[in-house]
Amino acid sequence: NIDTYGFIGLGNMGGPLAGRLLDAGCPLEVFDRDEAAAARLAAQGATRRASAIELADSADTIFLSLPTPEIVRQVTLGADGLIHGKRVKRVVDLSTIGPRSAKAISQALAERGIVYVDAPVSGGVMGATRGTLAVMVACPRGHYDALESKLKQFGPVFYLGQEAGLGQSMKLANNLLSASALAITAEAMVMGVKSGLEPGVMLDVLNAGSGRNSATQDKFPKAVLPGTFDIGFAAQLAYKDVRLCVDESESIGVPMIVGAAVREMLVLTNALYGEAADFTDMVRLVESWGGV
Ligand code: NAD
Repeated sequence: NIDTYGFIGLGNMGGPLAGRLLDAGCPLEVFDRDEAAAARLAAQGATRRASAIELADSADTIFLSLPTPEIVRQVTLGADGLIHGKRVKRVVDLSTIGPRSAKAISQALAERGIVYVDAPVSGGVMGATRGTLAVMVACPRGHYDALESKLKQFGPVFYLGQEAGLGQSMKLANNLLSASALAITAEAMVMGVKSGLEPGVMLDVLNAGSGRNSATQDKFPKAVLPGTFDIGFAAQLAYKDVRLCVDESESIGVPMIVGAAVREMLVLTNALYGEAADFTDMVRLVESWGGV
């Protein structure tokens, strides 16, 4: 009675994370609606399944790394969702979907005896590839204990409590900070460059000073100064995260003045640079507005 594992959503994050489980000797059954993504994992040794429900007929524990709350709902609870699978006992959701969706999905799955493990991650594609993500887990303790060794393949794991949604609240707090840091760093850098400073020198000074943050240390050196704007996180997903955070704050009565402004900057980024826009394209918005 060996536990079998599945993985749905093999994109920027799910691809490398599924690869890490395979490398650690964990056989995996995989599904992605994008054939090429599934084929990449099959080439690394995974077994392909034709649908979520087919996977749920043969795997006990299923990891998800899907774009939005709507898609996670559809893949878990929809007409062909894994809730109808014969074998699945546990769904480990690595996606960012917000606490309210996590609670609702957890409840619906529990009615069929399936446990929802709220487990969003932070640290980008590089963190997923290297296994250095922060993994934020909320679920019944026994399920956490059973899963811990697998989750540790992704990076340091933090157990936040029993209740679904706690992982999501933690993740939204993190991404609010990460998006705000990028937005405000863009404003500071464009101001400096337009005043005559060298961008590389600015980053050196900021990283030695108190302006240091994840944008000055990571996103600017990797994707903004080289002009590639390809950190591997879609601007529309960043927008989704900040929107979820502002919505959640509104529903519990917490002010989100800066958050709301950053959310609107991401709306504008998507409007200007289209569906394929990268998170770091937010900097191009400030550059073009500032005329640099
Ligand atoms: P992505 O768009 O690169 O990957 C999502 C994958 O899901 C794609 O391969 C897509 O084909 C697949 N998919 C979509 N709908 C599907 C369906 N109905 N059935 C099966 N497969 C389906 O997104 P990503 O960047 O890997 O992000 C995944 C999740 O992780 C999101 O919730 C995101 O917010 C979160 N996240 C992303 C990052 C990052 O830096 N990219 C970091 C932390 C967390």
